[in-house]
Amino acid sequence: MSTTSDFMTIAGEIAQERMKPEWQTFSLELNEEQQTLRDWVHEFSEKTIRPAGHEWDEREEFPWEIVKEAAEIGLYGLESTVSMFLDPTGQLTPVILEEIFWGDAGIGMALQGTNLAVSAIFGQGTQEQISEWLPRCYGTPADPKVAAFCSSEPNAGSDVSNVRTTARYDEATDEWVINGQKSWATNGGISDVHVVIATVDPSLGSRGHAAFIVPMSEVKGISQGAKVKKHGIRASHTADVNLDDARVPGSYLLGGKDKLDARLAKAREGKSAHGNASMATFEASRPAVGAMAVGVARAAYDYALDYAKEREQFGRKIIENQAIAFKLANMKTELDASRLLVQRASWLGAATLRGQTPEFPNAEGSMAKYKASEAGVRITEEAIQILGGNGYTREYPVERFHRDAKIMTIFEGTSEIQQLVMARTISGIRVP
Ligand SMILES: Cc1cc2nc3c(=O)[nH]c(=O)nc-3n(C[C@H](O)[C@H](O)[C@H](O)COP(=O)(O)OP(=O)(O)OC[C@H]3O[C@@H](n4cnc5c(N)ncnc54)[C@H](O)[C@@H]3O)c2cc1C
Repeated sequence: MSTTSDFMTIAGEIAQERMKPEWQTFSLELNEEQQTLRDWVHEFSEKTIRPAGHEWDEREEFPWEIVKEAAEIGLYGLESTVSMFLDPTGQLTPVILEEIFWGDAGIGMALQGTNLAVSAIFGQGTQEQISEWLPRCYGTPADPKVAAFCSSEPNAGSDVSNVRTTARYDEATDEWVINGQKSWATNGGISDVHVVIATVDPSLGSRGHAAFIVPMSEVKGISQGAKVKKHGIRASHTADVNLDDARVPGSYLLGGKDKLDARLAKAREGKSAHGNASMATFEASRPAVGAMAVGVARAAYDYALDYAKEREQFGRKIIENQAIAFKLANMKTELDASRLLVQRASWLGAATLRGQTPEFPNAEGSMAKYKASEAGVRITEEAIQILGGNGYTREYPVERFHRDAKIMTIFEGTSEIQQLVMARTISGIRVP
């Protein structure tokens, strides 16, 4: 039986144990630098992005002027992306994305779309390729550029392994010759740098894929196809990209030919090869899409809360009705739950920067994207309901928030694909 002094000893030991660093790993508290950056981005979002959202949505054009302004203050460009990527807590990326997408998701995608290509170059390129191509993805503040990541095709959306764009090596000229049609490329055709996923051996499925840099300024045979007219994020440019005997130098293969040959040899022997270029890129960026969804959802929640406190019917504010107040309570719960999942996944995703191996034992990246994007659709829809008829008109922003939120359940892996990934991860079974 324990005595009081035993208890005091144990209590003392517990108190000492709690002081150890391993108990202080995951924290939701932003450090001073992160808070300062969040406030700075919020200010730009509030003063510049939010007021421009409606206009660029109506115009359905790429908002170069806003991108230029963002580049001039240092929000768009290599330096800000690197500082986001290199935060060892992983929290800076979701914090900044939430603030930008709170301002407007279409303009947000215009500022963010380049990072898909950047992630692919950063993840798969050699040191020389990273140094050469990353600055070219962004251009300069005076002349900003964007970049495109082209994986999807008419018959290869969720099923990335079905990519039919081919890359053939021409030994005589040390060039790759690329042929095919890419669909849905964000920034496709308005970028110089296009990262194109092509198959070098169709018999190997996604293990036969490789990623190539195809700069429009240098390569004949790459052109923009049809521009896509969209339901939401209409300031973001989406288009088909056609590759017709597009010849790129051997050095434009990300990672280099020796690495590709070694990987293909392994795949042909039936050994596992970590070469699924598209999937690796998508997996790394999923919590970020969750953060974008949280930003749009927060915009809708904030707007609906203010509106419900102002609007009167039957002689009282509409928020005084349980039906409306409960909606807002649920919206806030969903919003915060989504953000927490995004924060956890972002922390796990930054493990490498803390000298650890990133592990997602329950597919936490997919979970965060799935939850936040689905919640984003529900929250923005409830915001329309709270605004009633006004919510359904283009005079108020919530219908735009709803249109914008929907894409988050589709690109970078649909909600069904996220569920598939999670189901397979938690069960260890290759659920079909
Ligand atoms: C605005 C926008 C921007 C985009 N930007 C890019 C980009 O920059 N680069 C790029 O490469 N791609 C981009 N995409 C493409 C996007 O990633 C694909 O649209 C997405 O992966 C889904 O593919 P899909 O449209 O062919 O749908 P499909 O794969 O045809 O899916 C149709 C439906 O079937 C479901 N489904 C499919 N397979 C299964 C399964 N096994 N189990 C259960 N359900 C399943 C899906 O979940 C979905 O509901 C973009 C798309 C849009 C709309």
